Amino acid sequence: MGTLTGKTALVTGGSRGIGRAIAERLGAEGALVAVHYGRNAAAAEEVVEAVRAKGGSAFAVQAELGTPGDVATLWEGYDRQALEHSGSTDLDVLVNNAGVTPRGEIEDTTPEAFDEAVAVNMRAPFFLAQQGLKRLRDGGRVVNISSGATRIALTDIIAYAMTKGAIDAFTLTLAKAVGGRGITVNSVAPGIVDTDINASWLRGDEAAQRSAAELSALGRVGRPEDIADVVAFLASDDARWVTGQVVDATGGSQL
Ligand code: NAP
Repeated sequence: MGTLTGKTALVTGGSRGIGRAIAERLGAEGALVAVHYGRNAAAAEEVVEAVRAKGGSAFAVQAELGTPGDVATLWEGYDRQALEHSGSTDLDVLVNNAGVTPRGEIEDTTPEAFDEAVAVNMRAPFFLAQQGLKRLRDGGRVVNISSGATRIALTDIIAYAMTKGAIDAFTLTLAKAVGGRGITVNSVAPGIVDTDINASWLRGDEAAQRSAAELSALGRVGRPEDIADVVAFLASDDARWVTGQVVDATGGSQL
């Protein structure tokens, strides 16, 4: 028996990177996992297969966040397939993970890049949670993926940092709003993790990898599993008394 046997989890952006590791870990804990993705259906199917290969259950859900009707599309896909797989649309764990990282100093950030970051990183999690609350069982979990950039000033991702600061405020306030139902709401703030988001400057560049590793007190770049394990804890019953918090999972970056 895993910690999430009999439960259902939805992981946005579960098709790649940190979300993929979260989806696989929650699946290994026994949850039926809805693996959400935007464009890359093949990647999502790979995650579904990976969960199934380890004896778990999963299905993929498509919705391009930040476009009109995004949240409705996601929940429609979720409802239909959750019903098929479990006979219910009830949800136990919502992980708001999908995100984009516009790069640019304040002078270089365009209104378009800013608006996309707000739509995907802030607006979508807000309304996904709003529409998800009626599906979320009492005692459920919301885990929002934030960023160490809310604590560490990184001027080249200023708009992104702003959206993640908003997520932390959302976490705090939503935790209070739904606490009466036994639902916990927490943020997890990763540092630099080796995923596609960082591929352009991190992969294949030893000097960049060294300086990224040096940011962490533990002396290495984060792996998606480092974050997934923290999310699995917050999703489990062991974390029932933790809510409204930002859990720093930066490997002690810039301590
Ligand atoms: P990633 O490897 O680029 O994966 C992003 C995931 O989100 C993919 O599954 C992607 O789906 C989905 N996604 C992105 N934009 C979407 C959209 N508009 N609509 C629907 N789905 C969308 O990213 P990651 O590095 O794992 O990051 C995951 C989360 O961790 C993000 O919130 C990010 O801000 C946060 N974070 C990451 C780091 C890091 O260093 N990597 C550090 C701190 C925080 P498709 O495959 O369909 O595109």
